[in-house]
Amino acid sequence: MVIAADLLWDGINDKPLSNWGMEIVGERIRNVTPIDQLDTSVEEMVILRDCTIMPGLIDSHTHLSMDASLENYLDHMSDPLEELTARAIAMMKKDLDAGITTCRCLGDREFLDVACKEAIESGLVQGPNILIATRGIKSPTGHGFVGYPFEGADEIVRAIRENARAGADLIKIYISGTLKGSGNLPSFLRREEIRIAIETAHECGLPVASHCVGGEGLDWALELGLDTLEHAYHITAEQIEKLSNSNTKLVLTPGPMLSDQRIQHLPKNLIPGHCEEKDEIYNNMASMIAAKIPFALGTDGMHGSLHEEIQYAVDMGASHVEALKAATIHGAKVCGIEENTGSLETSKYADLIIVKGNPFQEVSALKNIEMVMKRGDVVVRLDNKET
Ligand SMILES: [Zn+2]
Repeated sequence: MVIAADLLWDGINDKPLSNWGMEIVGERIRNVTPIDQLDTSVEEMVILRDCTIMPGLIDSHTHLSMDASLENYLDHMSDPLEELTARAIAMMKKDLDAGITTCRCLGDREFLDVACKEAIESGLVQGPNILIATRGIKSPTGHGFVGYPFEGADEIVRAIRENARAGADLIKIYISGTLKGSGNLPSFLRREEIRIAIETAHECGLPVASHCVGGEGLDWALELGLDTLEHAYHITAEQIEKLSNSNTKLVLTPGPMLSDQRIQHLPKNLIPGHCEEKDEIYNNMASMIAAKIPFALGTDGMHGSLHEEIQYAVDMGASHVEALKAATIHGAKVCGIEENTGSLETSKYADLIIVKGNPFQEVSALKNIEMVMKRGDVVVRLDNKET
């Protein structure tokens, strides 16, 4: 198959190229080239006007069965497992329709993400390629709406090994809460527990992601070799410096803190604190962006709305290319799958989207999905194009 459009952004260049296209054979990209050099003897050729071809989007932090568009969406994480599974199936389709060809699930109820991943891989249901954390691991006294409590180092080791056996692609731990309040952001896991969690996960060949917004737990996690830092809402200037000198990758999730609609959908007792800390959190995220720390983006359960997170990143000072890379190639790096996806290059998977307009001018162009291709299969396609 050959596809071409007025603009093509490969996920690497700083801007889209005019009149480029690509050849796809099976699951993979054979060639990315100017239109006049494309092989025109192929079975199917799609040329789109006023459109941009770009890598499929990567939601680097979500929860399959969470639907943040629901009122009291955190309470709904306690719905019966059957309901949560049905919701997850709907959410995965919503993601795919919105151009998300890969997502990373940072913990879900029981092991429902294992079943969801298998259902997608077998073709039973439609959704993005998924990486799963299975059960999130938290302290019995700690924060974590989609985490399970484990007491002490021995239980944490057991939980990580069980998650690994069940098919986890990564391990999720909860170090801090989310709001600062008047306190100093205590770490709910002891330093030794964080160390043993990272060591055990690495023994199992899995990276560790942590919900951590700041406090001394963030320092410990960076020192101990945490793989991905999620949220970092209350990171300090000193910690930004440490983060930029570490191997820990950053995943920003602006929406839960900056979207008024989402804040209003939180449990009533959490709403005032979120409103109070919103500006500070905005500034802290803007500081990380200004420090040029590469970041990926996640919706944290607002399925199909990664474009909103990209817009927030731009509002906070990221260039369009930085924000779009956050949702593509940097997401692939956070997931550890950049050899195979995240940019449009020869021999990578044909995971791509075609949108009407130019997302380098208007991020909202990402809402105008014309086509979604996942591993060479056209999974979403509008009918109004020349072929
Ligand atoms: Zn989350």
